[in-house]
Amino acid sequence: MAELVRYAKINTVLPREFLLLQGKGCIFKKCAFCDYHTDISDDPFSVNLPVLEQVTGEFGVLDIINSGSAMELDEQTLALIRQTADQKQIHTLWFEAHWLYHDQLKEFAALFPNQTVKFRCGAETFDPQLRIAWNKGIPKEVTAEKIAEYFQGVCLLIAAEGQTKEGILRDIETAQKHFEYCSLNVFVPNSTPFRRDDVLAVWFATEVAPALSHAPGVEILLNNTDLGVG
Ligand code: SF4
Repeated sequence: MAELVRYAKINTVLPREFLLLQGKGCIFKKCAFCDYHTDISDDPFSVNLPVLEQVTGEFGVLDIINSGSAMELDEQTLALIRQTADQKQIHTLWFEAHWLYHDQLKEFAALFPNQTVKFRCGAETFDPQLRIAWNKGIPKEVTAEKIAEYFQGVCLLIAAEGQTKEGILRDIETAQKHFEYCSLNVFVPNSTPFRRDDVLAVWFATEVAPALSHAPGVEILLNNTDLGVG
């Protein structure tokens, strides 16, 4: 795998330091559109140490993703996140997790008693049929309201095969209604056979994204490295 950029400063709707750390491997690995769960190694801590050393705390907010869920970070990395957050006066930590971990989030958040801990879920869509088609591993009866009982943020996939304009707009509206943060990620073709709908991608970039560029809590990624990591 090519060398990844793992640290970025973000000055958008949610100013923060943003880290791409390495976990011990995604528990699921089956989402049809995903090939980034291959970011693993025998020693994730040695990958994560120099990234965490760059944290300045200047925004008070630290957002940590790994190619999987935060619960898959190793013990040493978690201890260093806690120490860094305390030393750098981080007041809010964001992490990502698959729905499979929804009933473990409280226990995980308790690892950081001095911070407010928030979670983002890669729901990708609230359309249960599409989620099944994309093999997302979130049962069809799990609604946006249910996800929002556990998670404060959500990631949506945009311009992916099987979507419609109406469905995308409905998903965005639902996300804005139920979550304090949502990221709208235009699908970028990768090593999987999953396809982008290029007509939808152009429509979204030209007609939808500009109108949402200052929407509170909405972040738009036309490319998956738009936030500076990856
Ligand atoms: S999208 Fe996330 S949960 Fe799904 S396979 Fe990739 S890393 Fe795992």
